[in-house]
Amino acid sequence: MTAKQPAQRPAKRRSAARTTRPHPVLGAHQSIAGGFTKAVERAVETGCECLQVFTRNINRWDVAPLDPADAVAFRMAVLDAGLRLVIAHDSYLINPAAADETLRRKSIAGLVTELERAEALGIPWVVAHPGAAGDQPIDVAVARAADGIAAALAATKALAAGILIETTAGQGSCLGAAFAEIGTMLERIDAVPGLASRVGVCLDTCHVFAAGYALAPQTALDATLREFDACIGLDRLVAIHANDSKKDRGSRVDRHEAIGKGKIGREAFRLFVNHPRLRGIPLILETPKENAQGMMTPAQDRANLAALRRMAGATARAGSTARAGRSPRRPRRPRSDV
Ligand SMILES: [Zn+2]
Ligand SMILES: [Zn+2]
Repeated sequence: MTAKQPAQRPAKRRSAARTTRPHPVLGAHQSIAGGFTKAVERAVETGCECLQVFTRNINRWDVAPLDPADAVAFRMAVLDAGLRLVIAHDSYLINPAAADETLRRKSIAGLVTELERAEALGIPWVVAHPGAAGDQPIDVAVARAADGIAAALAATKALAAGILIETTAGQGSCLGAAFAEIGTMLERIDAVPGLASRVGVCLDTCHVFAAGYALAPQTALDATLREFDACIGLDRLVAIHANDSKKDRGSRVDRHEAIGKGKIGREAFRLFVNHPRLRGIPLILETPKENAQGMMTPAQDRANLAALRRMAGATARAGSTARAGRSPRRPRRPRSDV
């Protein structure tokens, strides 16, 4: 995981995803069970300012067409809730790096479907895993993943919705554990005219930690972010998945844990949410929602969001706590511009 020369990067165009507001924009992944607007209700119920959803059953290839009325209802609910950002996460079946041509074609078509659904729902970004190499040499698989993602973006040129390549834990032959791999993918995609502004990156704290990157102490976090900047470019970082890790640093095993309760720990998250280079980038939880009895409750998300807010308040107190307590219903700029 050595840093390489930063490539020429296109000018940042999606700055609306960021904010100069002192306290971090926090939210969580929520289920669409019962309808798309239910995810917004769950976001409001838990105090989210941003939201991630699946727009489909992620364990199946086939997907029923989106009902336009549902899409309108979802957009209205998002506006009404004052959510600052909504992103989607793609199906886990999608593997744009697949050596098998049939699977790769299905994966590209799957990404196109994800982008179309996101667009209809007013969602600017689809988080996508870069896929798995299988038996292919890594450099070949990285190039295939990039070309597959580029093909999906090129097939949807009329859409504003784009793809955020997610950093991964590197489980099995999964690509994207090394920042340099994602940097190489971006370079290949950026080389196709018109695509650069529709591809960015989502950093998952659990994944980068499991992949071997250190998040504490401060000097180690600084070094990790410097490497991210050199390989990928911090200007391409649009969203962060805030998850603690059940497994050790470098384990390459992806198991999310409640904030501060795992191997990453409170101190690393405190440094992370207060890092000046990450200011304004929304943090979205994908932490377990089950209580000690195994029941899904809103309490887990609320507790994790409260933990992050407290950590952010610990060093960014001035002006932030008052804002954090304001009603989320005050009008905000709609996301339809990106
Ligand atoms: Zn994630
Ligand atoms: Zn994960």
